[in-house]
Order: sequence, then structure tokens, then C-alpha cells
Amino acid sequence: MSLRQILGQEKAVRILKGILERKAVAHCYLFAGEEGVGKDLAAREFAKALLCGRVAGDACDVCSACRRIDSGQHPDVHVMGGEERQIKIDQVRDLGEALSKKSFEGGLKVAIVREAETMNQAAANAFLKTLEEPPAQSIIILVSARPDLLPDTIRSRAQMVRFYPLSRTDLMAALAADSALDQQELRASLAQGRLARALEPTLCQSRDTFLEGLRQALRDTADADQLWKDRDDIDEWFDMAILWLRDCIALKASGSASQIVNVDQASLIEQMSGQASLRDLSRVLSHLFQTRDLLRFNLNKHLTFQHTLMHLKSVLS
Ligand SMILES: [Zn+2]
Repeated sequence: MSLRQILGQEKAVRILKGILERKAVAHCYLFAGEEGVGKDLAAREFAKALLCGRVAGDACDVCSACRRIDSGQHPDVHVMGGEERQIKIDQVRDLGEALSKKSFEGGLKVAIVREAETMNQAAANAFLKTLEEPPAQSIIILVSARPDLLPDTIRSRAQMVRFYPLSRTDLMAALAADSALDQQELRASLAQGRLARALEPTLCQSRDTFLEGLRQALRDTADADQLWKDRDDIDEWFDMAILWLRDCIALKASGSASQIVNVDQASLIEQMSGQASLRDLSRVLSHLFQTRDLLRFNLNKHLTFQHTLMHLKSVLS
């Protein structure tokens, strides 16, 4: 890869290449945009372009620096976050210390903070100290799908680079390159502009599993423990439920299946939401959005399930 190969993010790539060409690199960037649209990849490619030993303005992909960054083994590139649900103060302190030292190879030091919004309060405070007195020769790239959750004090010190959902045409082009991926039309719809999502091998099965679980839950033959085994399950379930409700609304409002995401399920959507009014469907949809937002706190799983199911039962059958 290199910056120019990042799919569907022409604007962000143009900004990053401009920074490299003008050699006007800031201390801190914030790569913001929905999950799965290429931010982490762009952060790595930007780090490569900053440290590449061969070409200016992009990564060559073949020099020692580029290859070691690709394999996560470059001593001057530090990647943090994205593995646990929270970034803790010790990790931030370790990063600050690593950046305060001389670079191993005489060039820049780059830190990539994935899911930066998961810094807890103490970690964010410690991180702010690093930002206030930026270590020499260091570039920090914050990556976040929820930049609104970062403290203002951090956000205001970072230069924002926005990433957008990919167009359907770009998604279809990426999918067409992999014939092992089934139901490409449905994939491109379900992915909602997120390339990483479109390329998940089990995306369509996950949708089918969600639908089966939803029907069982509406009949009271499935409970929270069956449908929501872990946090990832819950996040995925809410994503799918929100798309389903939006489809119910789209179909009811327009009377046509042309706007729905679950393109293969028009008759089931119609059947399930046949009795509900648009107003009630919208109310339940906003409930789903609110609950999904609250999921980053430790909600009680069983109560959340019962409450959500009660809302869904009021509009779906
Ligand atoms: Zn290179």
C-alpha cells in the first residue's frame, strides 16, 4: 500500500500528500470518520510516508523503513489503543516516555493512537501534558470514529483530517476484486460506506443470524444471553437493528423497496412493520440510537435487552 492506493478517500489523501509535499507537518493530527472507512490504514501509510527512505511525499513500500512499519517492527513508530475497551494512563505515560527519547534512526518518531476516544479521564489528562509540550521530532496521529467524545482540550490541539463513508461505486469495485465474497449487492448496502465491513466474510450470515434472533426475541423464544454473548455481539446487534428499523421506515414512507438496505427482505420488512405508524417506528429508532450511545457505559445487559425488546414489540410483529 501507499497513500495513493487508499480507496475512496481522495480528499483526505490529497490533504496528507499536501502536508508531505510542503513538509509542513504538525505535531498532532486527528483522523476522524466512521469505523471501517480506512483511517487506521491511512495512519500507517502516513507514518510510512513520513519515514520512507526512498521517495518524498508518499511511501515506496519496499525500503527497510516501509517494510518494518508494515510489520509493526519500526522502533520509531509506536501504535497504541484499539485492543482493550479503554486506553489507560500507564500506556499514555509509556508513549510519552518513548517520544521524549532520541529517535533510534535519526528521523521522526510517530505515534498512532487508535480509538483515541477510549482514553479514560486520567489517560486523557496525561496525554494532554504530552500535547502541551510536544516532544521534539514527534508526530502524533489520533484516530477516532467518535471524535466528539475526545476532550475539547485535546481536539483543539490536533489538526483534523476527515474521512468519509465510501461511495457505493467504490465499495462495489472493491468487492468485485474478490469473487469469494458472496451477495455483493447486499454487502455493499449493509456496509453503509464502510469498506472493512463490506469485506467481512461473514457479513451476510451475521445479518441472517440477527434476523432469526430478532424473530425469536419477538416471540419470546430467545433471551439476552443467547443473542448477546459479548460486547461485540451487542454492538453488531444494534447496528443491524438500526438498519432494520430504518428500512421499515423507508418502505412505509415511500411505498417502494428502492431505498432499503436489506434489499433481499422487502416482503419481511413489510410484514413485520405492517401495523406500525411511521411516528412509532421513528420513536423506536431514536430509542435504539440512544441506547447504542449509552453502550459505552456498563449497562445491565438483561435490563437493556428487556427494555429494547419492549420498544421493538410495540412496532414489530
Ligand atoms: Zn519506503
